[in-house]
Amino acid sequence: MSQKSDYYEVLGVSRTASSDEIRKAYKQAALKYHPDRNPGDPSAEAKFKEATEAFSVLSDDDKRQRYDQFGHAGLEGMGGFDFQNVDIFSQFQDLFADFFGGFGGAPRSRRNGPQRGADLRVQQRLTLTEAYQGCKKEIAVRAPSPCETCQGTGAAAGSGREVCSTCRGSGQVSNARGFVMFTTTCPTCRGEGSVLRQPCEVCRGAGQVEKSRKVLVTFPAGIDAGQRLRVPGQGVAGVRNGPAGDLYVDVDLDADERFERDGLDLITRASISFADASLGTKLKLPMLDDSSIEVAIPAGTQPGDVLTLKGKGMPRVDGRGRGALHVVVQVAVPKRISRRAEGLLRELEQELQQTQVEKRASGS
Ligand SMILES: [Zn+2]
Ligand SMILES: [Zn+2]
Repeated sequence: MSQKSDYYEVLGVSRTASSDEIRKAYKQAALKYHPDRNPGDPSAEAKFKEATEAFSVLSDDDKRQRYDQFGHAGLEGMGGFDFQNVDIFSQFQDLFADFFGGFGGAPRSRRNGPQRGADLRVQQRLTLTEAYQGCKKEIAVRAPSPCETCQGTGAAAGSGREVCSTCRGSGQVSNARGFVMFTTTCPTCRGEGSVLRQPCEVCRGAGQVEKSRKVLVTFPAGIDAGQRLRVPGQGVAGVRNGPAGDLYVDVDLDADERFERDGLDLITRASISFADASLGTKLKLPMLDDSSIEVAIPAGTQPGDVLTLKGKGMPRVDGRGRGALHVVVQVAVPKRISRRAEGLLRELEQELQQTQVEKRASGS
């Protein structure tokens, strides 16, 4: 992977910049480097893309938080910013209409050619074990897909398309208002420049039909509730061979019986006997996967004492280490005991009290 610039530096804002400041900084950079204003200048285009990428991350609260925490690595796998799959001009069309509208420049029309499909959003529940180990899941998605009968063209067999007579194929019509010419999308062909001679019977000319399919999604170890995965190209199919949208998977976690999660840390309870608490012991603690770890309980451990084992908690999504495991110790008191045990306990109690009296008498 090539070295990436810091997003805050790219936009020239501080790490504490408000969303308004970020938007303003991006607007300035976008106006300066927009390809329409710098035709044939690859360095301007590179700067424009860099600024757009920085803005796409810093303007998204989720992504910004991840970036602040983990840097560029935090955005990998979570679906960072991928120019191969995102058409920045249509993605940010609203923004550009807003930015460039005031300059009289017509917003870039993409309706003539292929159109990018819409994004899809689904929710997926995982067990804590699945989040701990990472997992792959097949997610059922129902969305418009290319119509097989017409191969996505929308035209009935052998009929094809003909040039739109309203705009003569340009997809745009111009109207004069005063001294200024305004160009708008052709209403007849909706900007496509051509119309269907005879629509396909299956999709009624849309070129798409609703279909169910399964998408294999990889959930990285350490993923947490409230996080979102992006699967590029698995959203709604594009129109006329345009790129498909993305699939976003919102993750939720089921509660676990034995382990509680607190960010990267895990909390669990372990019950030991009074004798083990007094003498110390080693405990075999089964973990969320099939493994188990040995926990050393020191002599004199009190009920409620917490033993912290670093590096035994949840893995970080970026693979750089793990949180801690906190073991809350409970001391089990037997409810029913044998006569012999009762005798031994009374003897022990006497011995313990004797030790106390002797300790006090010797002044320690
Ligand atoms: Zn037309
Ligand atoms: Zn069709």
